Amino acid sequence: GKDLLDSRRRQKDSTKGAISGQLIARSGPPAIVDGIEGCIGNTPLFRIKSLSDETGCEILAKAEFLNGAGQSSKDRVALSMIELAEEQGILTPYSGDTIYEGTSGSTGISLATLARAKGYLAHICMPSDQAIEKSNLLLKLGAIVDRVPPAPIVEKDNFVNRGDIQLSNRMNRGRGFFADQFENEANWRAHYGGSGPEIYAQCNGRLDAFIAGAGTGGTISGVARYLKPLLPNLTVVLADPQGSGLYNRVRFGVMFDLKEREGTRRRRQVDTIVEGIGINRVTANFEAGKELVDDAVRVTDAQALAMARWLVEKDGIFIGSSSAVNCFAAVKIAQKLGPGHRIVTVLSDSGSRHLSRFWAKAGDVGGAVDTKLSDVLSA
Ligand code: PMP
Repeated sequence: GKDLLDSRRRQKDSTKGAISGQLIARSGPPAIVDGIEGCIGNTPLFRIKSLSDETGCEILAKAEFLNGAGQSSKDRVALSMIELAEEQGILTPYSGDTIYEGTSGSTGISLATLARAKGYLAHICMPSDQAIEKSNLLLKLGAIVDRVPPAPIVEKDNFVNRGDIQLSNRMNRGRGFFADQFENEANWRAHYGGSGPEIYAQCNGRLDAFIAGAGTGGTISGVARYLKPLLPNLTVVLADPQGSGLYNRVRFGVMFDLKEREGTRRRRQVDTIVEGIGINRVTANFEAGKELVDDAVRVTDAQALAMARWLVEKDGIFIGSSSAVNCFAAVKIAQKLGPGHRIVTVLSDSGSRHLSRFWAKAGDVGGAVDTKLSDVLSA
């Protein structure tokens, strides 16, 4: 123990110059911005030290949980959808107009925050199996919240069985604004105009792979559409949780594994503890970039939980379930590409949004654990 501490201290001393040098080399703190909406975007891109050291690749994470309004990647999307609706005259700032949305949480939180900032009401419908802290937060923000039964586990995930989307659409009845993140193309355009160019600039145009999960598909489509024309050799990879049909769609061009479906009229879909990604239909936002997705990695709940614990244990990075899926897939792709490659992935939200569900299952990370990456990979 003491030897380890001594060696860590020596390491720290020897890099002291380099660390302060880096701080001086930065362009200085960001300028003053107007309102909380000014704190959206321009998130840091940082090296995940443990995974980079283990794989010999540079594994970089876009810290989307640091977006300033709703504290997730969905801030970009919510702002983009609201601004488009304002341009189209559907929403008028400070009018008290209502924004309706069906959401697993993050988009609702971003919309509810921005609704406050811009003088709207937010009416959010969400599946009742999502982490309770998300709906509690929505209530604190003054949103109207409808928790609806989660979609029945059937072959096709569509409007007919997504009660949250159905309800928000129905309640809107043409009076307010149904944001419709799955089909609204202002979603992928937010990443095309924001996350994509930021990643390209932060990497000085050098990266080999981009990895993201898809909930609406906005992130992967928007970033891929920006980066691919600039970097034709870039590998774009979908990170897909268990139970999602997109993995098969990317790998084999079909939503469902036909073998699994044979003999059963309705193949039971596997459920997942992962929130925000994984879906069983091609949304407009996934459609927008699906030809640009080169590969897919399927990640089980056990693997996501093991990776989430690893990142706390080794790096002090406390993230949500979809980010854990992304990081697991990043390691798989690092192994596939071999050492020396630069891989960028997304940390969509913080672990604090997942305390009651995903992190309850992950348990506490002990103080004196020494997990091997091979244990995580074989989880
Ligand atoms: N992570 C979290 C926590 C999310 O809420 C979402 C969106 N539902 C995603 C990832 C996926 O992003 P996208 O919708 O852009 O595919």
